[in-house]
Amino acid sequence: MRNNKAAASAVRTVTVLGATGSIGDSTMDLLRGARERYQVEALTANTNVEALAKLAREFGARFAAIADPDRLGELKQALAGTRIECGAGESAIIEAAARPADWVMAAVSGAAGLKPALAAVDRGAAVALANKECLVCAGDFFMQRAAKAGACILPADSEHNALFQALGSGNREELVRVIITASGGPFRTWAAADIEQATLAQALKHPNWSMGQKITIDSASMMNKGLEVIEASYLFALTPDEIDVLVHPQSIIHGMVEFSDRSVVAQLGAPDMRIPIAHCLGWPDRIVGPSARLDLAKIGQLTFEAPDFERFPALRLAYESLRTGRGATTVYNAANEVAVAAFIAGQIRFGAIARLVEATMNDWIRSGNLAPLSSADDAISIDHNARNKAASLLPQIALKAS
Ligand code: NAD
Ligand code: MG
Repeated sequence: MRNNKAAASAVRTVTVLGATGSIGDSTMDLLRGARERYQVEALTANTNVEALAKLAREFGARFAAIADPDRLGELKQALAGTRIECGAGESAIIEAAARPADWVMAAVSGAAGLKPALAAVDRGAAVALANKECLVCAGDFFMQRAAKAGACILPADSEHNALFQALGSGNREELVRVIITASGGPFRTWAAADIEQATLAQALKHPNWSMGQKITIDSASMMNKGLEVIEASYLFALTPDEIDVLVHPQSIIHGMVEFSDRSVVAQLGAPDMRIPIAHCLGWPDRIVGPSARLDLAKIGQLTFEAPDFERFPALRLAYESLRTGRGATTVYNAANEVAVAAFIAGQIRFGAIARLVEATMNDWIRSGNLAPLSSADDAISIDHNARNKAASLLPQIALKAS
C-alpha cells in the first residue's frame, strides 16, 4: 500500500463542467464536504441560471458560464454584488475549461462536452471524465491529445473507474480481458415486444442508479453499456475482443480485470456515483468519502447473467461500430442522441432508438467515407453529418414502428 501521509494538504483549484447535472451535483457534494481543500475556479451549466448562480455564490467560484447565449444578462443579474466573472455561449464554456484549474470534472451531457473537455485536456489538467459521449465521438484522437498535453484522464464512469483501479494489479501483457458490469436496466427481464412499446416513464425508472434523463434512457436500451464498451476501448487501448459485458442486477461489482494467471480483480461499492468521483478527486491519494459502506451480508447475493444482444441490439451495434472504426463510433453516438431526443419528444417508439442508430450507421458505412479521425473538427463534422442523416431517416423509422 502507498504511504498516504503526504496526502495533498495544499488547496486544489477545481472546475466543474455541467455543475447543475446529476454528476455535477455529486461532485459539488464532495467539494462541500471539504471546503478548505478546494478553491472552485469555474462552474458551468446549460440553461439553469438560478442553480448555477446559487452554486457559484456558495462556492465562491471565480467564473460562471451558461451555455445558452441569451442568458448572459440573467446570469449577470443573479451574480450582482459578487466578484464572480461570468460568460455565456459555447465559447464561455470552453473558457471555463481553459482557465487554470488543477482538476476538471467533465460532466456535460452529450457530444456538446467535447470541445470543453479538450480545452481542459490541452492545458494538461487532471480531467475526471464522466462525459463518455465526448470520448466515443472523438475516439483515439481524444486520448492522443491528452497524451500530447500530458493531461491525466481519470475515468469517472463507475465501470471505467473500477477498471482503472483494477488494472493496477498487473501490466498490459498480462491482461486477458476486462469485464464491465451492467444492471440490465428496467427492461432486463422484458420480452422484446414489450421493450418495443416501452413508455418514457418506464424507461426513466432505473432500478439502481439515480442519473440524468439521457443516460437513464441509454441504460434502458443498453446503449449506455454500448457507449461504455467503446469508452473502455479508447480509454485503455483495448480491442473489442478484450472487453466483455456482464449483467449484474445488484450493481455492486462495477468492473473486473482478468489476468493471465486467471486472477480476476474486481472493484466493489454501493451504486453511488460519489464513490468513483471521490476516487478521481483524491487521486493519486484517497479521500474520506461520504457514501454508505458496503454491507455484503445485508445484500446477501450477487447474481450474474450473460447480456442478450437480441433484445438489446444497441449493445451489438456498439461492438460493430468499434470493429468498423474510423468514425463509426462517432456515428453511433450522434444517431443515438438524435434518437433519444426523438423518443423523449414522442416521435418514435422505444424500440426504434436502436433501429435509427443501425440505419444511420449502415448508411454511413455504405457511403464509404471511412477515414481515421485526425482532428476535433473531423469528429465534429462526422457527428454533424450523422445527426442530419439520423434526422432525415427519422420519419421512415417512425413509420416502420407504428
Ligand atoms: P445531466 O443531464 O444530469 O447533466 C448534464 C449537465 O451538462 C448539466 O449541468 C447541464 O446543464 C449541462 N449541459 C447539458 N447540455 C449542455 C450543453 N449543450 N452545453 C453545455 N452544458 C450542457 O447529466 P448527467 O447524468 O450528470 O451526465 C453527465 C455525463 O456524465 C453524461 O455524459 C453521462 O453519460 C455521464 N455519466 C453520468 C452518470 C450518472 O450517474 N449520472 C454516470 C456515469 C457517466
Ligand atoms: Mg457507467
